[in-house]
Amino acid sequence: MKDAAPQTIYLKDYTPFGFIVDSVALTFRLHPTATRVLSTIRFRPNPDATDNRFFLHGEQLTLISAKINGTDVTTRTVEGGIEADVPNAPFTWEAEVEINPQANTALEGLYMSNGMYCTQCEAEGFRKITYYPDRPDVMSTFDLRIEADGDNTPVMLSNGNGAESGAGFANWTDPWPKPAYLFALVAGDLIAHEDSFTTMSGKPVKLAIWVRPGDEHKCAFGMEALKKSMTWDEEVYGREYDLDEFNIVAVDDFNMGAMENKGLNIFNSSCVLASPETATDGNFERIEAIIAHEYFHNWTGNRITCRDWFQLCLKEGLTVFRDAQFTADMRSEPVKRIDDVIALRARQFPEDQGPLSHPVRPESFQEINNFYTATVYEKGAEVIGMLKTLVGDEAYAKALDLYFDRHDGQACTIEDWIQVFEDSTGRDLSQFKLWYSQSGTPEVTVREEYEGDTFTLHLSQKSAPTPGQDQKAPQVIPVAVGLLNDNGDEVLPTQVLELTETEQSFTFPGHATRPIPSILRGFSAPVTLTHDIDNDRRAFLLAHDTDAFNRWEAGRDLARDSLLKAIQQGEAPSAAYLDGLKALLRDDSLDPAYRALMLGQPSQSELAATLHKMGETPDPAAIHAASEALREAKAQSFAELLPALYAANQVEGPYRPDAGPAGQRSLANAALSLLTRLDGGETAAKQFDAADNMTLQLSALGALLDAAKGEDALSAFYDQWQNDRLVIDKWFSMQIMQAKPENVATTAQAFTQHADFDWKNPNRFRAVMGVLAMHHAGFHFEDGAGYTLLADWLIKLDPVNPQTTARMCSAFQTWKRYDETRQGKIRTELERIAGQDGLSRDTTEMVTRILNA
Ligand SMILES: [Zn+2]
Repeated sequence: MKDAAPQTIYLKDYTPFGFIVDSVALTFRLHPTATRVLSTIRFRPNPDATDNRFFLHGEQLTLISAKINGTDVTTRTVEGGIEADVPNAPFTWEAEVEINPQANTALEGLYMSNGMYCTQCEAEGFRKITYYPDRPDVMSTFDLRIEADGDNTPVMLSNGNGAESGAGFANWTDPWPKPAYLFALVAGDLIAHEDSFTTMSGKPVKLAIWVRPGDEHKCAFGMEALKKSMTWDEEVYGREYDLDEFNIVAVDDFNMGAMENKGLNIFNSSCVLASPETATDGNFERIEAIIAHEYFHNWTGNRITCRDWFQLCLKEGLTVFRDAQFTADMRSEPVKRIDDVIALRARQFPEDQGPLSHPVRPESFQEINNFYTATVYEKGAEVIGMLKTLVGDEAYAKALDLYFDRHDGQACTIEDWIQVFEDSTGRDLSQFKLWYSQSGTPEVTVREEYEGDTFTLHLSQKSAPTPGQDQKAPQVIPVAVGLLNDNGDEVLPTQVLELTETEQSFTFPGHATRPIPSILRGFSAPVTLTHDIDNDRRAFLLAHDTDAFNRWEAGRDLARDSLLKAIQQGEAPSAAYLDGLKALLRDDSLDPAYRALMLGQPSQSELAATLHKMGETPDPAAIHAASEALREAKAQSFAELLPALYAANQVEGPYRPDAGPAGQRSLANAALSLLTRLDGGETAAKQFDAADNMTLQLSALGALLDAAKGEDALSAFYDQWQNDRLVIDKWFSMQIMQAKPENVATTAQAFTQHADFDWKNPNRFRAVMGVLAMHHAGFHFEDGAGYTLLADWLIKLDPVNPQTTARMCSAFQTWKRYDETRQGKIRTELERIAGQDGLSRDTTEMVTRILNA
């Protein structure tokens, strides 16, 4: 069936639902192909509503019966649900519907994953479970009964606290009102890794991570992360957990990373399961962050939720900001900040500077699933960070207390959020609010002036047009600045300049010698910075900047300049960069993780974006060659240093995933990847054979593949891990990542024939197709085979899983950067996707937006 012409939904059209829901009672009679859902819902007219039409969302449901106050009622089927005539007084709605979890491959609503029942309701999945006002501003308590026959579902979980249970049934009750998107149910053959936590007021909480038998040994780290998160949220935000139990379930087939359902978080198994043998340091850190993120949602998202889906950043921006604070506290603040900025530039900047650009709070959508974006999440978090910088730490803490006090139990808007800050600080934030409504990445330009003993920074801002927004007003941009003298001493510690006009000047009197500014410290705003300085200045900042972020940034700028000159003029790698970097690598007072980040260089995609911005047409092959040449130059130039660096950062003793040893391994592995160019893979082969953890094993495999010496290691790796899905995902990804550009598409193509290519599993699909799209030179290889292969598979996946398909269409979002031949090939593929009969609403919206670039 072809979807009706997609409807656009607008923020300005919001109206409250005509009824208030006082209670929901559900009974699930589970069956793989014919689950019955019985609902009893207490409604009463909403005095604040103008539209009293009784409409309930419902999709792919078979209605068995419907009653109002115990009497059969006739319902009318309308677009997206049903309507009925109801009394103008409180009433009870009862319905029975049948659904087919087995046939649900879209993984929204109730579905099956490896014989286990599982739900995903955010954003609009509950309407595939039963008829309901499936909107976040309708909140209610839920009581639940789950029934199942047979031995396949010994464990049956839902939100809230477990009540009576017995053979073939379990009852759950959730005392806290919640929107339907936070509903969850899991049933299957699961084993618990149990623990407990005592909250700050002395309340005991039962904790459990539920996994399939065989995965029990992969839960310990996640449990520790959960307890740390609970403690941190009490200590830093004063937020205490509010139920008697907290359950996490690992699921193999899951579209997202994880979901914060009240009291029952559901996780993609890749985001919770970890053992030293099977997970890398990066996996451990990510798991810690995601567990924290979902847990923190209990207050920022669940207790205080969103009025409508346009306000998604209210819960996501704030919760991403909170999880970043948590990681910075658990690990290293500068390293976390640098990691986040690398990710922001890799994912959010291309989105904000291309056809998919949208405000942090979008004003319209066709399919809300398409707006779970880097802009809503990561830029949304940057906006919170700027707000905190502008009002100060103390005022931020006070405002958050007021937010929790004032809005607990409510469904809120960005206006409510901003109002809290205005009320608690007395500050007018109307201009700041533009960060929520204006899309695009502002560009800040800096000019310096020194006269008499006064140093002046002239700052200006502009924002390029983005879809639907030609004219932009100046935004409030906090620019953190410090001043150094010639010796590298700080003569003015970091202070925050508030750029509010199109052009503004800031003076710093009393400097007998010309100071050297360090600008946008800590990346204090999500902007691009243009500051016309030479490489001597950058080298000086690389050596001396007292701000860890800007010191890293100076190295990055040197690397970028070197790469651009190689691409444009065929110049050799910059000696200033290599020498500066070498000095820094030798400095053992610096955190190894920080030095490992210093060894990195701008991604090839980032270089393409830079060239495009300079008005040039990026050539992926030339960018790839320059990037490789710079890595080769590092290997040669650091030849004496690398073995020592590698040796000095070997970690003794049993594996621990904490920041200290993980940082050492990251520096040793960064050294190894360069060292492999010098010793032909000898060190990497030894590391591969001796590795007792995945971090060392996988990085050695990567280094060997890069040196084209990985054949034996590859098959050994496969033999060792063929029964571990998460590790086999890595096996697929690593081979594509390390393939030469001309072989990337054929490698991915061959994998689609592999017995382990379970393409309906989102993790596996992304491990192959997602990595294909991320290999810049390979995906954009001149024959266009990468484009065709990805399009073929998106077309195949769309009827099965529209959400994952639509999201992966963004691989094409940067197409207008490239030459006409590549643009033509990509247009052909996009049009081929768009022309598919029955294409989902999700994918239609994405492809249309990209094509309209
Ligand atoms: Zn979230």
